[in-house]
Amino acid sequence: MGRAGPLLIVGAGAAGICGALAAKEAGVDAVVIERDAVPGGSTALSTGLIPAAGTRFQRAKGIADSPECLVADIQRKANDDAAPAVLESVARGAASLIEWLTDYHALPFELVDSFNYPGHCVLRMHGLPSRTGRELIDRLRHAAERLGIVILTECVAEGLFADRDERVRGVEIVRGDGIRERIGCETLILACSGYGGNSELVRRFIPEMADALYFGHPGNRGDAVVWGEALGAKLAHLGAYQGHGSVATPHNILITWAVIMQGGFQVNARGRRFCDETRGYSEQAAEVLRQPDGIAWDVFDAQIAGVARQFEDFQAAERAGAILTAETIGELAAAMHVPLDDFANEWHTVETLKTREAVDRFGRQLAPDQRLRAPFCAVKVTGALFHTQGGLAIDNKGRVKRKDGTLFPNLFAAGGAAAGISGTSAAGYLSGNGLLTATVLGRLTGQAAAALVLRRST
Ligand SMILES: Cc1cc2nc3c(=O)[nH]c(=O)nc-3n(C[C@H](O)[C@H](O)[C@H](O)COP(=O)(O)OP(=O)(O)OC[C@H]3O[C@@H](n4cnc5c(N)ncnc54)[C@H](O)[C@@H]3O)c2cc1C
Repeated sequence: MGRAGPLLIVGAGAAGICGALAAKEAGVDAVVIERDAVPGGSTALSTGLIPAAGTRFQRAKGIADSPECLVADIQRKANDDAAPAVLESVARGAASLIEWLTDYHALPFELVDSFNYPGHCVLRMHGLPSRTGRELIDRLRHAAERLGIVILTECVAEGLFADRDERVRGVEIVRGDGIRERIGCETLILACSGYGGNSELVRRFIPEMADALYFGHPGNRGDAVVWGEALGAKLAHLGAYQGHGSVATPHNILITWAVIMQGGFQVNARGRRFCDETRGYSEQAAEVLRQPDGIAWDVFDAQIAGVARQFEDFQAAERAGAILTAETIGELAAAMHVPLDDFANEWHTVETLKTREAVDRFGRQLAPDQRLRAPFCAVKVTGALFHTQGGLAIDNKGRVKRKDGTLFPNLFAAGGAAAGISGTSAAGYLSGNGLLTATVLGRLTGQAAAALVLRRST
């Protein structure tokens, strides 16, 4: 067996690297095991936006917010099914996480103030200049490299081993050259995310998305859940996930939900609307997939396209020719190949209700300042599975629970490996829940695991 290191972390996404940074700060060197040659994970595929309440970036723009408001927003969306203790510590840790990454690790966060996501009572999304998860993970990796943190890349963890009292003793790994070995550890953090990349587990736990496009990292194969289940860990909220109802097809490029929140709407291939889009993009994935041909059209205007252009993905969609533009509704309907009568009917209904500041037949509140003006835009989209939200049940420091609720002595989980704060279904996912739990829980588990290592060494 390889020499025992004090702290092993499986997965170099946002959760794993935040954990390693926090452990280093506490005086413990972690070794991070990562499947890929360059760390990326689902973090790199995301827009990299993290919600945080009470940051100095919000205060500078006169926005009053608090962890209590963030908790309330998350629980409202999750139907009060988020584990209270975990949610509380995540919400309380978010503002300091953003400021810690900015001040100590050179991640230049700013408040996204040009639009809001559904369900957040105030502007609280924080992002990096490019609004990409690639920038987020690259900057995290650079921070780790600056501190000399070891990330073993092209190294796959294939299982963990524990002794009779369920103390984890180490991890079996396979390196890129095929060499298999066991590395010992005193403490283990599972930061290897969820099971979106394991079609068998998706079919088992989330049958409604079994045949959907998976838009997350393919290397997230549910290892934490599989190993945890074998060890007797408690699993929670396995049917929960982040979906997205706005992925340009056939281009497979994310179209920001800002196009809807700024006044756009969706119609199906028959030119008909089918629900209140502003409930959230996550549950909209299955709604879109239920429509004819499993597609919908996002309909918006050039002014909204200007807001959406802050996202590199939207620019890529424009370059790929996914965004149609037209001077009239008739031309737009023709380009979309939807029946003009039905489409025009929906259009006029929505636009008229906007002028009256009325609620539509699906319950969507419309606003007069969101009327669409020529030139008009549309993009064909489908629904996709972004990442799973179920996982290992944890306490407020990320310590993994056994089936009876007691804690394993030295096993932690963070990010997509742990049960999330999004309740039991796609509808419980509030924008940002993914990176919020990855980064904040990553940091908390790093601190707690380091404290455990230091206690055992004295
Ligand atoms: C398109 C898209 C957009 C999104 N946008 C947002 C957003 O704006 N805001 C938000 O909050 N969330 C967003 N999310 C969700 C967010 O990306 C995830 O919740 C978050 O990145 C999870 O972080 P993580 O560190 O747990 O997992 P990951 O970033 O996926 O990292 C896990 C790492 O573990 C590695 N790994 C897995 N198994 C093993 C193994 N056995 N051995 C070694 N390594 C292993 C993987 O290679 C990977 O690098 C989005 C997701 C997608 C797909």
